[in-house]
Amino acid sequence: MPELVQIRPRDHTRPPPPEPVVDLGETPPQGPRVYLETLGCQMNEADSALIIGQLQASGYTRVPDPAAADVILINTCAVREKAEERVYGRTSQLLRHRRDNPDLIFGITGCMAEHLRDKVSERAPHISLVVGPDSYRGIAALVDRARAGDQVIDITLDKAEVYEGLDGVPEDDGVSGQVVIQRGCDKFCTFCVVPFTRGRERGAPPREILRGVHVLAERGYREVVLLGQTVNSYRWEDVTFAALLRAIAEVPGIARIRFTSPYPVDFTEELIDVMASTPAICPQVHLPVQSGSDRMLEAMRRGYTRGEYLGLVDRLRAKIPDIALSTDIMVGFCGETEADHQDTLSLVRAVRFDSAFMFRYSDRGITFASKRLNDDVEDAVKARRLQEVIDLQEGFTRASHAARVGRREQVLIGQIAKRGDRLVGRTARFQSVLVPLGRGRPGELVDVEITGSTGHSLIAS
Ligand code: SF4
Repeated sequence: MPELVQIRPRDHTRPPPPEPVVDLGETPPQGPRVYLETLGCQMNEADSALIIGQLQASGYTRVPDPAAADVILINTCAVREKAEERVYGRTSQLLRHRRDNPDLIFGITGCMAEHLRDKVSERAPHISLVVGPDSYRGIAALVDRARAGDQVIDITLDKAEVYEGLDGVPEDDGVSGQVVIQRGCDKFCTFCVVPFTRGRERGAPPREILRGVHVLAERGYREVVLLGQTVNSYRWEDVTFAALLRAIAEVPGIARIRFTSPYPVDFTEELIDVMASTPAICPQVHLPVQSGSDRMLEAMRRGYTRGEYLGLVDRLRAKIPDIALSTDIMVGFCGETEADHQDTLSLVRAVRFDSAFMFRYSDRGITFASKRLNDDVEDAVKARRLQEVIDLQEGFTRASHAARVGRREQVLIGQIAKRGDRLVGRTARFQSVLVPLGRGRPGELVDVEITGSTGHSLIAS
């Protein structure tokens, strides 16, 4: 019988283990090989970097091809629709690699771990490892146990774990890097799984965050993206998020700072003033609104009204006139009427977001909405409303790009485009720009003239 590993709460009075020594050189693969696939948000990407850092420090080697792996991990997301089915589907697809490697181990990490813990043995017996987002510090030992034949489940949520002292090994462009400053969430929006799958909000100490930014700068990164579920509610003793931004702006080598995602209620005047007065902080905010209807905002327990959200947009634009705004919009939440939907459309018209992530509500199983509210908007109605919001926003996204044509923009060059004939960079407003080869190198800030735009990119001469 496989053994179920019993996990005890960790002792945070102990000093953290030594910082991993990561071999970034070109030594041939050795040790057990791990293939990791990431689903979902930027937080999950950062967690994948952390997982790989921990595994490499214990002798594992990341491989890009599942056919070459001894261990296949899927870092899962529970936020979007049908996430669970997708995880089962993807691991079943990858199961064919066991034909060539009968010892191949499958593991699930991330937000789906909580959902899957009681179901995997029945639904997906080939999965022998389930690890939640607060257990990555010890992931190498857990993978070792699974490779030794144990059925391993560690979904302990840890109120104190912020992975202090650990650096990830990201798969990014080496120009824009991420630092997680906060984990978990205390907001408990009624539709959201995050407080259940990632636990309560806690911030990393400012010294640890600054250490992470210095590490990026020393590795040649020019931009840092601060991550948190409600990143601007960050506070550490008397250090506010705005004060943290000011300190990060002093780190030599870091030319640009972004953060995502802020929570509208916690957007202080101090933060707006620091953004307006600190050149390194990009004039760009992703500000999730979810709905334009006060009735829906209340049902979602978002903590603000339509008027308060629009007031915040006005205050941001008054102090940072060229600021780019994007958002998240959810249609078809429990009880949403046609009038509520029209309120959302009118809010989109009022704000004219530069871009938006738009999706329809789906029952996530463990939320307040799932247990107490009625998912009563028909699928066809959800689909029609979503399409209406997308069509409306697409026009504003195209217009936002077209409005930059003829202007000079400073672009941070990120990488060479897949086709190999252009460089890809971003403006401070986070718009993607295609730049001719030879106009700069990855990591350089170059001034270009915008000569054209496609729907979602700018073209520079
Ligand atoms: S603020 Fe709301 S939507 Fe965002 S992570 Fe927290 S509970 Fe989820």
